[in-house]
Amino acid sequence: MDPRDGLPPPGHLVQHRQEGRIPGTHPLPGISGAGVTVGCDRPAPVRQAPARQAPARHPGPDPDPRLEIAGLTALSTCDWPGRLVATVFLQGCPWRCGYCHNPELLDPRTPGRVPWPRVIDLLRRRRGLLDGLVFSGGEPTRQPGLATAMEVVRELGFGVGLHTAGAYPGRLAAVLPLVDWVGLDVKALPDGYPAVTGIGSGADKAFASLRLVLDAGVEHEVRVSVDPALHTEGGVWRLVELLTRSGVRRIVLQQVRRPDGSASAPLPVLIAPPRGVRVRRAE
Ligand code: SF4
Repeated sequence: MDPRDGLPPPGHLVQHRQEGRIPGTHPLPGISGAGVTVGCDRPAPVRQAPARQAPARHPGPDPDPRLEIAGLTALSTCDWPGRLVATVFLQGCPWRCGYCHNPELLDPRTPGRVPWPRVIDLLRRRRGLLDGLVFSGGEPTRQPGLATAMEVVRELGFGVGLHTAGAYPGRLAAVLPLVDWVGLDVKALPDGYPAVTGIGSGADKAFASLRLVLDAGVEHEVRVSVDPALHTEGGVWRLVELLTRSGVRRIVLQQVRRPDGSASAPLPVLIAPPRGVRVRRAE
């Protein structure tokens, strides 16, 4: 039994998905530096009960959604800005972004390492301390058990956060009614997607997912990881303009950290961003 209940040691902070993650600080059990990183701009905590309610579709005691969970972070102050959350990292992603810091999460055939009951047990013991559970990845919408898992979390009284790059808009649409907050990665302007994701398509799906999030009215943050090897200054400004015109209310530009640990050279837009746009530096 972990006497700290899975929490990192005092003085250690917790991490923020792959784009902000420092290499060597991985959430996966058995991988170096498990669960201890930070690098988020944290607004003042807004600890409120989840605003959106969705009816349970799977009544009964804690159905096991059979998720392939690669890792669990017991406490994060930045995976859902303003909330104290636990985060599960789900296995599998169809894309191959060059700056991805979680290559271990990409192969959907890799079995999970964290049993779902362990997640539920953590939530039960952290009732009143945690605001919610964030489903991250990888690409969490790839897993068919996601909706069931979200329903269980809601039935326990916790909010539901979702990190996604929008690779599966149909699956995203199915779970959105169960989600209180979305962190959506938008990779580039549409014509820039193949270079970023390493595949021939993806933009249509990503922008369809963006539209779904906006139309649902769910709280959201759109993140753009700015890689000087893949983005241009003008391209980032055009992308921000496109996102703003589309109705995105919160945009965060993230400085990319290279797989060797070094921060990428910041484009000028990261130093003097468009008005209202936040910057998350790779520190
Ligand atoms: S979309 Fe997939 S490959 Fe790209 S950064 Fe996210 S997890 Fe990695």
